[in-house]
Amino acid sequence: MSDCIFCKLAGGEIPTNMIYQNELVACFADANPQAPVHVLVVPKCHIESADGVNASNSDAVKAVFEAIPLIAEKLGVKDNYRIINNCGEGVGQSVRHLHFHLLSGSPVMKDRLF
Ligand code: AMP
Ligand code: ZN
Repeated sequence: MSDCIFCKLAGGEIPTNMIYQNELVACFADANPQAPVHVLVVPKCHIESADGVNASNSDAVKAVFEAIPLIAEKLGVKDNYRIINNCGEGVGQSVRHLHFHLLSGSPVMKDRLF
């Protein structure tokens, strides 16, 4: 999608602190970190939100979850991180390109959300 900031970051059109990437997935630092480790893992293809996942694009989502352990290893947070996805403005999704927050290193990470 031409006007999507995460498409531009994931595709390299806008330079960013790229932590990991492969053909289908990009991982870059969150611009407004909420924990000592806070990165975003995104599919390179444009999917608006978790509601937009379907049989024709789920390969990219599979690739995201295959990349997450590699990213956690690279960041030194294996077995000690939280993955968060916000689906929809009502729960705080501010960028309409599917992304997964990977957070670690904050005391609040010890708190259960539910
Ligand atoms: P969400 O609120 O779940 O949609 O998360 C969007 C996240 O994207 C927020 O944590 C923002 O800090 C982050 N963000 C927005 N713009 C950028 C950007 N240009 N580079 C990196 N992170 C960004
Ligand atoms: Zn996009």
